[in-house]
Amino acid sequence: LDAGIAPRADRLIEYLHRLQDTHGALFADHLAALAEALKLARAEVYEVATFYHHFDFVPAGGEAPPALTVRVCDSLGCAMAGGAELAATLATRLGADVRVQRVPCVGRCDSAPVAVVGQQPVLQADADKVAAAVANGEREEAAPDAIRFDAYRAAGGYQLWEAVRSGARDPEAVIIALDGAGLRGLGGAGFPAARKWRSVAAQPAPRNMAVNIDEGEPGTFKDRHYLATDPHRFIEGMLIAARVVGVSGIWIYIRDEYPALRRLLAEELERVRAEWPDLPPIELRRGAGAYVCGEESAMIESIEGKRGMPRLRPPYVAEVGLFGRPTLEHNLETLWWVRDIVERGGDWFASFGRNGRKGLRSFSVSGRVAKPGVVVTDAGITLRELITEHCGGMLPGHELYGYFPGGASGGILPARLADVPLDFDTLAPYGCFIGSAAIVVFSQDDKARLLAENAMKFFAHESCGQCTPCRVGTAKAAELMKAPEWDAGLLTELGRTMMDASICGLGQAAPNPMQSVLRFFPQEVGAAKEEGDA
Ligand code: SF4
Repeated sequence: LDAGIAPRADRLIEYLHRLQDTHGALFADHLAALAEALKLARAEVYEVATFYHHFDFVPAGGEAPPALTVRVCDSLGCAMAGGAELAATLATRLGADVRVQRVPCVGRCDSAPVAVVGQQPVLQADADKVAAAVANGEREEAAPDAIRFDAYRAAGGYQLWEAVRSGARDPEAVIIALDGAGLRGLGGAGFPAARKWRSVAAQPAPRNMAVNIDEGEPGTFKDRHYLATDPHRFIEGMLIAARVVGVSGIWIYIRDEYPALRRLLAEELERVRAEWPDLPPIELRRGAGAYVCGEESAMIESIEGKRGMPRLRPPYVAEVGLFGRPTLEHNLETLWWVRDIVERGGDWFASFGRNGRKGLRSFSVSGRVAKPGVVVTDAGITLRELITEHCGGMLPGHELYGYFPGGASGGILPARLADVPLDFDTLAPYGCFIGSAAIVVFSQDDKARLLAENAMKFFAHESCGQCTPCRVGTAKAAELMKAPEWDAGLLTELGRTMMDASICGLGQAAPNPMQSVLRFFPQEVGAAKEEGDA
């Protein structure tokens, strides 16, 4: 616990991390002692310790895991690049002293396949590279080469923040700029940012703010990119939002898979605090490997020290959010754009866009393209334009067969729909959505059905389990999808039930890739082609 500071139950996950970092696992007697210190029932600590995938709970008399874990990503991009085969090879090659786990997306899809040795990512991994990292004792990722506080400030950074802070810049003018830009929530939901700011500001004080850097959607790595290159642009946007909306405290939730970025952010926030000591409290919270915590209310539960289970709404987070207070919740990238939009004007941002759409989008592009990576370009660009203009074309020897336009949850489109504008709202006629703009491109070497099965297994693994259609439906669908010929009627009915009756977006979106296969790739699963989809 923290010397001189009373232990707080909401910091439970932080304490669990410390225990595991120190002792290599979570042991039953340690959890009992922690429960006593926090004045919680043991069951409350146990249920949290066993909910999150990154915690290794060891029951009384149980055996601790090996000291070193190598995690091998087997989500979409890494699966296409041989992630599962790599994990199998490593499991025999590294021996019993090293635990090899197949894990969901680690946020580095542009360098697939990826293995993580301790906390050291091995990019474009093969068995030799991973074995060398294990043998050389590489365990920690080096700090990224980001623009630090002094450099950012010297280049004009934080002038806007100082203007907002001093009152020289009217808060209403800031909101008007966001409105003019048409800035929407870029974590995936696409809710207009200006409307969100107004609606939280209209709630009674005290109000809180929660920042979501939990990007766990397979295929998404844009937040990592922004944090690793220009973190203060995000921090400045966050401070401006906090001041305009009038919040009393800020919590930043960052995924456990980004330890170097977490350290970087902690250092830079200290620097910011030294400059402006009267800022509201800012707490950095570490996720623990639960995809569902990217859902805003699940993230809030997690920050409160509980299992990351999405809440029923209403009430909405903007009304009753973190610690019961009205809460402004934003994804990192949404805040990253605030400074540029306010300085250059909403019209500047809205002047980008093509095919009738407005603004800029950050596409995380991975899969069978020559140059995967984060592409910042026009909203409304088509996949064909994106690949040709920004990704160096397809990988040699590969032809476009299909793509995920919005990570694992956004559905799958075939090559013949490569000219559809990519943006919020444009993909609904095809049963797809853009979400966080994670584009995973695949070729004739891949099978849409296998990728959809990969996605469904991922959702089954990540379901928080609190509602039956999602918990049972994802597991059952994953089983059914193994059959050489799919039972289209049963899968469609199952998918509808999950969409209609699941509490949160995970269960509602989980059937999308499966339904896309039935609709656009029926030849792969022995299903009849749907009318109108020729
Ligand atoms: Fe949990 Fe799935 Fe229900 Fe969401 S839909 S609340 S992840 S069980």
